[in-house]
Amino acid sequence: MAWDFETDPEYQAKLDWADAFVREEVEPLDHAWPHLQFVPLDGGRRKAIDPLKQRVREQGLWATHLGPDLGGQGYGQLQLALLNEILGRSSWAPIVFGCQAPDTGNAEIIAHYGTPDQKKQYLQPLLDGECFSSYSMTEPQAGADPTQFTTSAVRDGDHWIINGYKYFSSNAKTASFLIVMVVTNPDVSAYKGMSMFLVPTDTPGVIIERNVGLFGEPMDEGTHALIHYDNVRVPDSALLGGGEGQAFAVAQTRLGGGRIHHAMRTIGLAQRAIDMMCERVLSRETAGSRLADKQFIQGYIADSYAQLTQFRLFVLNTAWKIDKYNDYKKVRKDIATAKVIMPTVLHDIAWRAMQVHGALGVTNEMPFLTMVHGAAVMGLADGPTEVHKVTVAKQVLRDHRATDDLWPTEWIPRKEAAAKAKYAEYLELEVGNL
Ligand SMILES: Cc1cc2nc3c(=O)[nH]c(=O)nc-3n(C[C@H](O)[C@H](O)[C@H](O)COP(=O)(O)OP(=O)(O)OC[C@H]3O[C@@H](n4cnc5c(N)ncnc54)[C@H](O)[C@@H]3O)c2cc1C
Repeated sequence: MAWDFETDPEYQAKLDWADAFVREEVEPLDHAWPHLQFVPLDGGRRKAIDPLKQRVREQGLWATHLGPDLGGQGYGQLQLALLNEILGRSSWAPIVFGCQAPDTGNAEIIAHYGTPDQKKQYLQPLLDGECFSSYSMTEPQAGADPTQFTTSAVRDGDHWIINGYKYFSSNAKTASFLIVMVVTNPDVSAYKGMSMFLVPTDTPGVIIERNVGLFGEPMDEGTHALIHYDNVRVPDSALLGGGEGQAFAVAQTRLGGGRIHHAMRTIGLAQRAIDMMCERVLSRETAGSRLADKQFIQGYIADSYAQLTQFRLFVLNTAWKIDKYNDYKKVRKDIATAKVIMPTVLHDIAWRAMQVHGALGVTNEMPFLTMVHGAAVMGLADGPTEVHKVTVAKQVLRDHRATDDLWPTEWIPRKEAAAKAKYAEYLELEVGNL
């Protein structure tokens, strides 16, 4: 009976090392250099952060999402999930451990579909943590439905000319290259007529029109670019996937384990909120007792613990299934479900933690509003919750069948009649004994 919730001691030792390392060495980076994770390292930042990356490499924990052929350790998704839970405490941690989105997904794409030249030019610097990349898919007029994209590439001899607009291309302003999804054949279905190109950001015609900021960031100083591709000329060799029409197949590769890692990082963050909530309610007195002694507040603690524990077990079970089946398609329903649950769990827990901190909770001196805002972002980035719910529902329905009977299969009068017929002999005996 193999159903075990324990981590083997050797890997647990690595997790313990990572936990202490993140708390002591990495979390302070969030305060020393906030919001600079995706700005190429230089000066003091390079001097501080390069040695930290080296310590992660020495532990065999650098870029662990990669397969052994690319320098990774070949850890399974369950092991990666447990590591990512620790990394979720700090926004610098994924950078220091070489596993930050969107670069992880982009690296997976190039590893999977890149030619040897593309790998040399784009993949290796990415894996070395020496450059950043951007995924340029969403357009101003369409996001959740890629069949509405209009940015196009037209063949010109052995080159392609890209024209159109892309929106919310995260980190484009500091990225070395973009992976761009465009229409190459408008005469066939979007699923066959779209292609992916690798485009260096300094290619003439790549114009960042705005760097859209999220709530609280200064106007036009954010990290989500509105990009005008204005007659951008790229060679045939910039095509990804071995030819035209491969965009959807390539895009699927990005999803890999990324959503599970993200869910576990969210769990790490939500646990931090619970820790802060507990500390506060044990420390603060009002109306004759500690906050921790009020039943309202105990309800917050219990609800938060219950919500997080359920979600954590669900995500770990999903990671375990990925390892077991080694086939993401078989676990699609659960991966989409994790994406659906994630924003609500973080929102609810962060909101309660904020509330028990009173006025201090809503200031910029505590991290709660950032967490609540992060939850809202999670309901959109990588596809809106509604779209993932549709995926879940379709997958669930696939395991069920309609009945052509007027009454449902579980209609009690019929079941009762069948049960009485099945056990008639014994039922009669009982009546006889009365
Ligand atoms: C922080 C952040 C980072 C991002 N990074 C990137 C990036 O790096 N690269 C990139 O290409 N994109 C990126 N995006 C864009 C993201 O992928 C899109 O926002 C997302 O796909 C939704 O597209 P949209 O914003 O155009 O909303 P729309 O497609 O207009 O949808 C708006 C709303 O309509 C509803 N809706 C949509 N479809 C359905 C449906 N089928 N059924 C029911 N309701 C529906 C939902 O409520 C949805 O929120 C990022 C977004 C955010 C917030």
